[in-house]
Amino acid sequence: MKRITIIGGGASGTLLALNLLRYDGDERLEINLVEKRTHVGRGVAFSTDQDSHLLNVPAAKMGAYADDVEHFHRWLNECGLEKDPTSFVPRRIFGEYLREQLEEANKSKADNVELNIFDDEAIDIERHDGKVAVHLMSGDVLYSEKAALAFGNFLPPHPTVPDQAFVHSPRYFQDPWTPAMFDSIKAEDDVLIGGTGLSMVDVMLHLHQLRHQGLINAISTRGQLPAVHKLGFTYSSFYDEIKGSTRVTDILKTVRAHAKNADSNGSDWRAVIDSLRPVTQQIWLDLPLAEKKYFMQHLSRYWNVARHRMAPEAALVIDELRGTGQLQILKGRLKKITWESGIGFDVRYSTVGLDQYVHADVIINCIGSESRFDQLDSPLVKNMLNSGMIACDELRFGLDATPDGQLKTADGKASDMLYTLGTALKGVLWESTAIPEIRVQARDLAQKLISE
Ligand SMILES: Cc1cc2nc3c(=O)[nH]c(=O)nc-3n(C[C@H](O)[C@H](O)[C@H](O)COP(=O)(O)OP(=O)(O)OC[C@H]3O[C@@H](n4cnc5c(N)ncnc54)[C@H](O)[C@@H]3O)c2cc1C
Repeated sequence: MKRITIIGGGASGTLLALNLLRYDGDERLEINLVEKRTHVGRGVAFSTDQDSHLLNVPAAKMGAYADDVEHFHRWLNECGLEKDPTSFVPRRIFGEYLREQLEEANKSKADNVELNIFDDEAIDIERHDGKVAVHLMSGDVLYSEKAALAFGNFLPPHPTVPDQAFVHSPRYFQDPWTPAMFDSIKAEDDVLIGGTGLSMVDVMLHLHQLRHQGLINAISTRGQLPAVHKLGFTYSSFYDEIKGSTRVTDILKTVRAHAKNADSNGSDWRAVIDSLRPVTQQIWLDLPLAEKKYFMQHLSRYWNVARHRMAPEAALVIDELRGTGQLQILKGRLKKITWESGIGFDVRYSTVGLDQYVHADVIINCIGSESRFDQLDSPLVKNMLNSGMIACDELRFGLDATPDGQLKTADGKASDMLYTLGTALKGVLWESTAIPEIRVQARDLAQKLISE
């Protein structure tokens, strides 16, 4: 008998389970899926019930299966939603799709395959008699031959200002992905959003839907918003020109030249970035550590803006709010945040060496998921780091692992029992957070787990 435990039932854990449920071998296969949230299949990204929270990938590219990327779009049509393949669908619909796929796969699986879902939190893992023992918050212990950690997104780190007392204010929201937060924001509150990426866009859209009246300031060091999708363009791969390159600046030069070429030849620079997507992980793997560090320090912000784009519908709302002056995008580094009940937050930030001040009644943290595992509050992560079963990667941007997801112990050995996929592989693969990457990892990891 084979037993596999998956920890985390967000999109990554669900996609892995979906692939495992296709098992057609002779042995018995038992799959345990452990999720601490109420619903499996949704995770952080797809739990939202807001129609204004759109996918940032067109429907025709969001299929759950690596061998059928248009599956989601067909499903939409079958459900009578008849969306255009290029449309950006509300994320809650994608969560519903994943949940339904899991339900269907569970119904049609072979008789020798069993899926057990545990509504629980994994808090520790240890080796026990050649098996993985997963300890759950409820006190139960799950034994299996292999386990996959599909942790996903963690809460953002607090802004790095010296005095952190403000984090105890009831009007500071560290988790930008909980809709309950909006119940305690008054329409006339002035809001400061830390971060100007896609999570900030989500918060803005929600506030707009609630007809928020107060001022909204969003701040980041560069003050750059995500670029806007422009569909309908393609660009031929130029990977041969950068294949095996070990210098980030050489790659950048080539990409820039192609972006210029695209813009002046009827294509679009976004298509150039998209043409790199299938090879981004390989480009990253070929870079020496120092070059990866250089990229993260100096260029990753620009990459994120160009690569993680917002839907045109979202951009229209952002433009409208900026036009009326209700939304302002600030560029600067946060220096000091103080909070006093009845008065609110006084925030000092600096822009090109000059101190600036802004007042807010509410602060929402949209800095982005914490990637430094040694800073996380998760009992499971803490216990596993302490026991040396897992370790941060050399960039402290995820966990140390082989490119195909075999986790490495603190002494650098690849585990034959513990695996991961998704965001934990960001340091190893760079691009490892979105469905187009995760569905490939889920397929390949399922094959690996079953065949070993
Ligand atoms: C707001 C937002 C919007 C996004 N939009 C898109 C998009 O439009 N398209 C796209 O391709 N990608 C999008 N992404 C990227 C997104 O991260 C992935 O697509 C995908 O949702 C990641 O799934 P995941 O399962 O790895 O992570 P998560 O969604 O974070 O799920 C991880 C799950 O693991 C559970 N968990 C963690 N630790 C434990 C434990 N110890 N015990 C039990 N359960 C545990 C958590 O409760 C959670 O449900 C978005 C991300 C965010 C944050």
